[in-house]
Amino acid sequence: MTKTYRRIKQIIEPQYVIEGAGVLLRRSFGPDVSNLFDPFLLFDHFAFNDPLEGPLVGFPTHPHRGIETVTYILEGKVRHRDSLGNVGFIGPGDVQWMTSGSGIMHEEMPRRGPSGRIDGFQLWVNLPAAQKMSQPRYQEVDASTIPSVENQGVTVRVVAGEYAGIKGPVTEIAAEPLYMDVTLDPGAEIDLPVADGHSAVAYLFDGEGHFGLDDDEQGDFVSAVCMVVFDDGDRLKIRASESAQARFMIMAGGPFKEPIFPYGPFVMNTREEIQQALTELRNGTFVKS
Ligand code: MN
Repeated sequence: MTKTYRRIKQIIEPQYVIEGAGVLLRRSFGPDVSNLFDPFLLFDHFAFNDPLEGPLVGFPTHPHRGIETVTYILEGKVRHRDSLGNVGFIGPGDVQWMTSGSGIMHEEMPRRGPSGRIDGFQLWVNLPAAQKMSQPRYQEVDASTIPSVENQGVTVRVVAGEYAGIKGPVTEIAAEPLYMDVTLDPGAEIDLPVADGHSAVAYLFDGEGHFGLDDDEQGDFVSAVCMVVFDDGDRLKIRASESAQARFMIMAGGPFKEPIFPYGPFVMNTREEIQQALTELRNGTFVKS
């Protein structure tokens, strides 16, 4: 069996954008017809709201259709409420994997942590055409139920997919994703299988290291904060620098290879399907259950 290590294809410097009711975000990529990161549509880092800033802002009630939104919190909390009657907090280390399917209306409002800060990520994962109008579904995962694998300076929290024989608690997702929070001690290395043909990215939010190492240990030195996009292959190797740790999210998933038509909080396959969503919002038939 020949192993092919994934090299770096692109390094994206996140751009500041304003979303919702004035939330300042670092966006690595957003929904676009080019669908370059298929099945991933968007990745935002909401390391915002400096303690010295004024009142908190957030994301008042808004719809979604045709996608999954994945919220992962490092610090602070997000209060969540939706049209299915769910209500609760997403706190440090928790994950909410929301499959909007045919549609939900929800509200996401941040709360500061003890330090006064809020830090976390939101990933949007596409749904295949056949599942865009499916029943909405939530997988709420408490931090305590996410397995953490520690070995030789490598700590991996497995949210979805499998690492070292340990499966994450989020299951039955169309994109068959790998979604993990990785911490490497200085000099530590992770070498893991990533399915051939799947899209794979790593969001480095703390520290530095060598990414996209190959058989000859050649790779690129990368510092936080950035999104690293990998070429194809069936393994991925990353090593922290000798002087600092590296902390990053690894995300991989199988592309659907379908045309997409994004519009605000909706991602469908055609313009007509977007028009249908807007019509249903106007006439009050958007939420199906
Ligand atoms: Mn939302």
